[in-house]
Amino acid sequence: MINYQINTFNINQNSKKILLIYTGGTFGMVYDNTVKSLVPFNFNQILNNLPEIQRLDFELSILALPEPIDSSNVSTEIWLELAAIIRDRYDLFDGFVILHGTDTMAYSASALSFLLENLSKPVIFTGAQLPIGLARTDARENLITALEIASSSIDGRTIVPEVSIYFNGRLIRGNRAKKQESSQFDAFNSENYPFLADVGVTIDFKFPYIRPYLPDLPLKVHEQMNPHVAILKIFPGMSAEVVSHFFKLSHLKGVVMETFGAGNAPSKPWFLDELRKATEQGIVIMNVSQCTGGRVIQGKYETSRGLQEIGVISGKDITTEAAITKMMFLLGTEPDIEKVKILLETPLAGEMDLI
Ligand code: ASP
Repeated sequence: MINYQINTFNINQNSKKILLIYTGGTFGMVYDNTVKSLVPFNFNQILNNLPEIQRLDFELSILALPEPIDSSNVSTEIWLELAAIIRDRYDLFDGFVILHGTDTMAYSASALSFLLENLSKPVIFTGAQLPIGLARTDARENLITALEIASSSIDGRTIVPEVSIYFNGRLIRGNRAKKQESSQFDAFNSENYPFLADVGVTIDFKFPYIRPYLPDLPLKVHEQMNPHVAILKIFPGMSAEVVSHFFKLSHLKGVVMETFGAGNAPSKPWFLDELRKATEQGIVIMNVSQCTGGRVIQGKYETSRGLQEIGVISGKDITTEAAITKMMFLLGTEPDIEKVKILLETPLAGEMDLI
């Protein structure tokens, strides 16, 4: 177990125990006059802005990563580290809240949803659009509600046993979330899946959409991700040179291809030839839509039939964030490429529909 310093508040043997993991992000940033921009700050000082913590009716422990980051710097190493932190302390806590920058929160929540197999406790990501030190900050409500949801249970059963994002009154399945807004407070939306809870005066859980509580399955924490993946966003007028250079990247193992509408791409022979050559070399290509709603249906139009014939995998209604992290996870943990292709089309953590 890695030896992090953990500070505990409201020590009470009989209450629920929640671990808050601080990674950085706007939530804890301050304006640095020398560099004239927002930079991550030491979490212990941030707590001075949160006297409410003393009034919570659960035991709260806080673990801060040694180097708080702007989430634009998150990496596969940090995702694996977060998964290991939870694995090593899984039996000690009833729930986990991860404070994280909003920019890549949907990627991190997706990654953790694949790394933490058979999760039966809440892992809730949250953050803020304004730092905790500002009067109009959204940080306080986001954190307090995320902590409350992480500690919620009915008849001793935790209510949200999955990786989710709580932000601005909505609880969203982590691998369905997308950052949609950088100015307003409603930073996240849920793509192709209902919210898990709406929060107002009460927390209104949407039980049919929340993953069932399955405590008998042992938690399995995966320890490998393959970073040799890339995203190819198709655009009208894309040149053959761009596509052929892209697929020549050394070590490339997987590509998430963002296509038009219901999964359509140019049907020109040069384009399909590049894709065919890549799949013959063992590169896995997954088709996801550039639209924020709807799904990929390969073969619906002539412009996606060729992709189907080449063996491009349909990403159905998955987000790009979930698709790329699922690919990193599967290419890191499953050596058989044919199995990787089957699993890419199979829902593993509620990230896509069955059909
Ligand atoms: N750049 C920040 C981050 O993602 C933005 C935020 O936290 O909202 O770390």
